[in-house]
Amino acid sequence: MNYQSRQARFEELFPNQPKFRFQQLEKNLFNYDFEDYLQMSNIPAEMRQTLQDDFEFISVKENLIQNSRSKDTYKATLEVEGGKLIETVLMQNKRGQWTVCVSSQVGCAMACEFCATGKMGLIKSLHCDEIIDQYRFWKYFLKKNPDLEQRISNIVFMGMGEPLANYENVKQTLNKLLKYTDLGPTKITVSTVGVIPALIKILNDPEWPHVRLALSLHSADQPSRKDIVPTTFNDFLDKIEEWAHEYLVKFGNKKHHLTFEYVMLRGVNDTPMHSKKLADFVMKIGNVKVNLIPYNYIGTQFECSTGEDIEKFMNKLKGSGVNVTRRKNMGTDIDAACGQLSNKQSKTKI
Ligand code: SAH
Repeated sequence: MNYQSRQARFEELFPNQPKFRFQQLEKNLFNYDFEDYLQMSNIPAEMRQTLQDDFEFISVKENLIQNSRSKDTYKATLEVEGGKLIETVLMQNKRGQWTVCVSSQVGCAMACEFCATGKMGLIKSLHCDEIIDQYRFWKYFLKKNPDLEQRISNIVFMGMGEPLANYENVKQTLNKLLKYTDLGPTKITVSTVGVIPALIKILNDPEWPHVRLALSLHSADQPSRKDIVPTTFNDFLDKIEEWAHEYLVKFGNKKHHLTFEYVMLRGVNDTPMHSKKLADFVMKIGNVKVNLIPYNYIGTQFECSTGEDIEKFMNKLKGSGVNVTRRKNMGTDIDAACGQLSNKQSKTKI
């Protein structure tokens, strides 16, 4: 069974309504003063009642909320259509505001060896309403917790799933977020394993909004990447290099760079050979930032690189002129960190 969008159901229920009416309703859904349809005084009264009776106000249902001991990370397990569970994370960023990490699919087909979601396989892609409502969910959560900072300043598509394997829904989500929230394109990041046909489509799709893109590179050495990211085909790195050049020529500027994510796996992709190949690869491309992610344990054969090895790796990159940062691990105590999201339901509330 597929999720039927709010728009489709709206048009079915109110076939004679002018187009702007649905847009008005959507706009209302991003106005957090409204807690249900009945409160939407700018909508005709009888329509409000029908919406209240036949439409859920939010397409994701709270199953469990956990917070990390440090109180800087919250993870929500949410139920979507069909009773499936997804996870979304709210984390405090450097400015003390919040970054929301959304899921784009239930599970993932990409099967990266070091990722918990990858172990689930793909269960389903989320509808645009279900992705947007993860953000709305956190807005209402913050409203209910007035002692917390209220502002969500960033959204990252780094939860469960491969966003570019759900291209149309992610594109619609991005366009709606840009239209109805106060977030600009530099505040939203889509992270991808590198689905080449979709990346190429982005180059020429006038409806794709140019939010930030992060590519999960994880190795600039073809055989090592293939070992950890099974979707790596033979000329992947060449194709990425070619694509990145074109992307940066078209869309790159001072504010718009490309990010390469790089999970640090001890003895797997953190040796001097790997840092050299990564530095060479990045320098060939140009306007790229590298973000090193310490591996978060998910019970596989991998171990995180030692602090010393990460330091050496970073220094080698810096020495070659690469702009490199290290991602802070957040929410590991509630399995909310990168790669730890899955749909196991936890019984105990923290
Ligand atoms: N499918 C998207 C989003 C994945 S989650 C992608 O591949 O980019 C965001 C980042 O976390 C990706 O770079 C992903 O490779 C990384 N990641 C996955 N498992 C991880 C783990 N166990 N520890 C650290 N990072 C991990």
